[in-house]
Amino acid sequence: TASALKDIISHAKEYGFVFPSSEIYDGLQAVYDYGQNGVELKNNLKMVWWKAMTMLNDNVVGIDASIFMHPLTWKASGHVDSFNDPMIDNKDSKKRYRADTLLEDRAAQYEAEGKADVGKALLQKMAKALDAGDLEAVRQIIIDENITCPISNTANWTEVRQFNLMFSTQVGAVSEDASLIYLRPETAQGIFVNFLNVQKTGRMKVPFGIAQIGKAFRNEIVARNFIFRMREFEQMEMQFFVRPGTEMEWYAAWKEVRMKFHQAIGLPASKLKFHDHEKLAHYANAAVDIEYEFPFGFKEMEGIHSRTDFDLKAHQDLSRKKQQYFDPEINENYIPYVVETSVGADRLFLAILCNAYTEEIVGEGDQQKQRIYLNLHPAIAPIKVAVLPLVKKDGLAEKAQEINRSLKFAFNTTYDEGGAIGKRYTRQDLIGTPYCVVIDYQTMEDDTVTVRDRNTMSQERISIADLKEKLGYAVSM
Ligand code: ATP
Repeated sequence: TASALKDIISHAKEYGFVFPSSEIYDGLQAVYDYGQNGVELKNNLKMVWWKAMTMLNDNVVGIDASIFMHPLTWKASGHVDSFNDPMIDNKDSKKRYRADTLLEDRAAQYEAEGKADVGKALLQKMAKALDAGDLEAVRQIIIDENITCPISNTANWTEVRQFNLMFSTQVGAVSEDASLIYLRPETAQGIFVNFLNVQKTGRMKVPFGIAQIGKAFRNEIVARNFIFRMREFEQMEMQFFVRPGTEMEWYAAWKEVRMKFHQAIGLPASKLKFHDHEKLAHYANAAVDIEYEFPFGFKEMEGIHSRTDFDLKAHQDLSRKKQQYFDPEINENYIPYVVETSVGADRLFLAILCNAYTEEIVGEGDQQKQRIYLNLHPAIAPIKVAVLPLVKKDGLAEKAQEINRSLKFAFNTTYDEGGAIGKRYTRQDLIGTPYCVVIDYQTMEDDTVTVRDRNTMSQERISIADLKEKLGYAVSM
C-alpha cells in the first residue's frame, strides 16, 4: 500500500493536481501547491461543504475571519501554554509526560546514586537532541534508559511530539514596537471571537452555527504522508452554539450528518469509521474522529468535538467582555456550549483522490491494456465536460467550439481538438472528467452528439438541444 500512495503522489503531480512547493528550489518540507486541476477539485470540495453547512441548514451562517488575531486569543484558547513541550505518551497507561521531565528525573536519580556525571551527560545529550529538533533521538534516550511509566510500569512509548506548533511573526514597523503575533493554528477562534457579532447582527437564536473555511498553520514536527500533514493547510470548521445540557444530542446529530456528507461525495461507507478519542483535549467533554482508510491506514480526516463553554468562557475572562446569550425561551442568560465539526480540506482532498484513483484492464486478448482514471463524483470533478470534435476539418471544429461556448457558462468545460480521439479520452480519464461530448459527421446532419461516460466508456447519442439540461443534471449533487 506504500506504493499506492506513491502512485497517487506521482499522478497528482503529473496531471496538475498537487505540486511540491517551490519545487525549482527542491521543495519545502510539508508544504504543497495545488495545480490547475487540483484547485478546481479543492474549490469544489469547499463549495460542497459550504453549501451543505449554510444552505441546507437554516440556522448556520458563514464568516471569513483573519489569519492574524490578537495574541490574547491564543492565551485564552490554551495554545500559548499547552502547545510548547516535547511530550511522550505511554501506550499502555495512555498517560502523557513531558519527555524532558522524564529525563531530568532520571538524571536526579543518578545524582542520588552518586553518579552525578552520568546524569549530567544524560541531560547534555537530551539538550543536544532537543536543540536539533531530533525528537526521535529524545525518544531513543528514554528507551535506552529503560524509563518506565509509573502507572503501567512499562516502557511502551509513543513518539515524542513537540507541541510548540504555532508559527509566530511580528507586526509593527519599528522593531522595538513590534509585537509578537501568531499565524492561527486553527480557524475556530475566529468564530468564537465573532460569536456575539454574528448572533446580534444576524438575530440568531441558539441553537445556531457559524461556518468558516480558511488557512491554518502548524509547525508540525513529524511531516509525512504527502498532503495529509502539512505546515500550511486549510480547515473547514463549524461551531454550533447550543443550550448547556443539550450538547450531547447535538454532538450525536452532527456526527451522523457529517458521516453522511462524506458518503454523499463518493467515499464508500466501508472506508469510513468513527474513532472515539481515548484522551480528551483540555476543552472537550466528548470527541470523535471520522477516519478514512488511506493507503497508510485508517487516519483522522475530521474531528467532531463537544467543546463545552471552554472557549467562550476563556475569552470572556481575558477580554472582560460578556459572552452571554439571553435565551428568550427559558428567560435565562448563559454562555452557550459548543459542538464543532472540523475537517481538513486537504485531507478530504487526499481521501477523495485516493478513493478515485482506479487502475483497470480493458479490452480483450492481445488488445488488453491498462487504463487509469479518476472515479470522481461528477459534482466535484475539476472539469465536467470535454468537448471534442472527431476531426478538425469540414466545420466540425467550429461546431464543437460553438457547443463549448453554449455550455461553459453552466459548468466547467474544456475544448480539445488535438490528436486521436482515444488519446483525448485518456487525457480526460486521467483528470476525472465524467463526460466527453464528441462532434462527428452525423452532428452536421442531425444536430446530435455522442456523450461518452468516463466509468463505463459507453456512448450515448443525444440531441444538442438536450445537452445542457442532461449534463447539468448529471454533474450536480
Ligand atoms: P492530528 O492528530 O492528525 O494532528 P488534530 O487532531 O491535531 O490532527 P484537529 O486539531 O482536530 O486535528 O484539526 C481538525 C482537522 O484539521 C483534522 O481532522 C485534519 O483534517 C485537519 N488538520 C489538522 N492538522 C493538519 C495538518 N497539519 N495538515 C493537514 N490537515 C490538518
